[in-house]
Amino acid sequence: MERCPHCNCKDIGKIGNNQFYCWNCFMEFALVGDEVKIYHVDEDGSLVAFAPEPLEADATSAAAVG
Ligand SMILES: [Zn+2]
Repeated sequence: MERCPHCNCKDIGKIGNNQFYCWNCFMEFALVGDEVKIYHVDEDGSLVAFAPEPLEADATSAAAVG
């Protein structure tokens, strides 16, 4: 992993086994097999799965933004 899968910058750091952090967009991402999981670090420090392109509206996962 050389570039951030989210913003494509190279300013990333390794924070664990197959886990990386982007200092540019503050996204955390993990390599799971051939897949890259992207997480947003919440204000309280918890990781929230980042979905760049939600395929369909889901009432159970809808959350107020902003
Ligand atoms: Zn990034």
